[in-house]
Amino acid sequence: MGLYEKIQEDADMVGIDLPTEELAALMQENNASEETIVAVAKVFEHLRKKKWDATVSMYLKTSRLPLKNPKTFDNFDFNQLHGKDVDVLKNLKTLSPLYSHNNIAFIGPPGIGKTHLAQAYGTECCHRGHKAYFLTFTELNQKLTDARRADRVGSAVNGMVKPACLIIDEVGQCVMDRDNTRIFFDVVNRRYNKEGPGSIIFTSNVQPEQWSGFFSDDHSLLCSLDRLFDTALVCTIKGKSYRGKGRLTLAVEAAGK
Ligand code: ADP
Ligand code: MG
Repeated sequence: MGLYEKIQEDADMVGIDLPTEELAALMQENNASEETIVAVAKVFEHLRKKKWDATVSMYLKTSRLPLKNPKTFDNFDFNQLHGKDVDVLKNLKTLSPLYSHNNIAFIGPPGIGKTHLAQAYGTECCHRGHKAYFLTFTELNQKLTDARRADRVGSAVNGMVKPACLIIDEVGQCVMDRDNTRIFFDVVNRRYNKEGPGSIIFTSNVQPEQWSGFFSDDHSLLCSLDRLFDTALVCTIKGKSYRGKGRLTLAVEAAGK
């Protein structure tokens, strides 16, 4: 790529329309040397990087993921896990499911790293320029109840449809009432029909087949629940708690598709 094209592209990334003709005319007017044009290119490259860093930092801040000591794939010890599907978990860092519109569920007993993996996925999304939003199932339930009371269901729904990566931690902490269930499945359906990369990440102690007990509604909504797992990656992590323990042997099984 030529220097002018590069400057044009970097300017575009910081939101400035700078056609190569305009830039070349400006350089010519100022009798700019090759070195000058290289210096201008460096400034635009720097601005582009600053803009990118600001975007990532804004995505992290609005994601509700912990900013202090974030959980990442790099600080997850995959050696703790054994089984043929550990590579499936390692490869989540590529965010392939985000691009293939697959949802992910991390299922297993407390303390084995489900929330860690879910947050690592969300953090990775932000670093690669995708919005993420993290909340627990109980927080989600409360958010929907509050939104109904304040007559702001629309904006609550939009806030959960927009991020490429929506993380719902600990499905099964509570049972959603009929109205909240309907709103939640509206979110699911709108995300399903949305263009662009997208995944919903769930964690739970309970297998997805038993999740209907956490929602209150009729058959059609339970079909939406099936749809959630149409093409999902269900990672069943077996083993003992990592919390406060030394090395443990965990068995990982990934199923689904
Ligand atoms: P869960 O959500 O399955 O109950 P967490 O993800 O909250 O478990 O894990 C409990 C704690 O142990 C967290 O601080 C997490 O970072 C840590 N942890 C769990 N598994 C691992 C692992 N394989 N490597 C590094 N830290 C881990
Ligand atoms: Mg957890």
